[in-house]
Amino acid sequence: MLDLSKNKVIIAIDGGAASGKSSISKNIAKKLNILYIDTGAMYRAVALYFLQNNLEPTEENILKNIDNINIRLVNENGDNTVYLNGVNVTDKIREDSVSKFTPHISQFKILRDKMNEIQRGFANNESIIMDGRDIGTVVFVNATLKIYLTADIKVRAIRRLKDLKLDINDKNISEMIDSLNKRDYIDMNKEYGALKKADDAIVVDTSHNDIDKAVDEIISLLKERIK
Ligand code: C5P
Repeated sequence: MLDLSKNKVIIAIDGGAASGKSSISKNIAKKLNILYIDTGAMYRAVALYFLQNNLEPTEENILKNIDNINIRLVNENGDNTVYLNGVNVTDKIREDSVSKFTPHISQFKILRDKMNEIQRGFANNESIIMDGRDIGTVVFVNATLKIYLTADIKVRAIRRLKDLKLDINDKNISEMIDSLNKRDYIDMNKEYGALKKADDAIVVDTSHNDIDKAVDEIISLLKERIK
């Protein structure tokens, strides 16, 4: 097993919606015994606050409310439990309404600047694997290893339907493909923190790989990097 006691590593995992980021990152975190941070959960929690308070996604509303939104990510059993102003919202932030709303809130620079600062703070004292959209391009430009995950859109749609425990049928698959494509389009075309592959990121395609294979591949790449 890889001994990280003498090396502080930062692994940046970026990719589109349902590309397998969180399952892969969680698995690697467990295997390497390092911290896992799901940055999507942080943006989702902000989006949930907006939905709960009937706020339009505008810069003005971000400015007015940013100091009232307290997000805490707690690492429990290798997973991230998410608290919004003290309330456990881990399951709530996965709802479809939140998924659809989050890209509208995550486009504002003032919010991203705050998130970036918090996210960098997580890596102050320990090794970390962090997943999101702009981890390799903005948050940790000097990450030890940058991975850009891709997968066939149908594979991703089926993966997300399974996560949400919905029926895997043609209608649901085609609606989910549409919804993932829309979300990726917004995320890829944001003015700040847009989803894109960092020049020095390594592409890992999870269309045919099972999660374990991708995990092993990424750990091998890390070993190469730090030897
Ligand atoms: O990763 P996940 O699908 O949970 O992310 C939800 C949303 O949060 C994304 O669609 C994106 O709008 C936003 N996000 C972001 N930057 C990140 C992580 C997520 O803008 N680093």
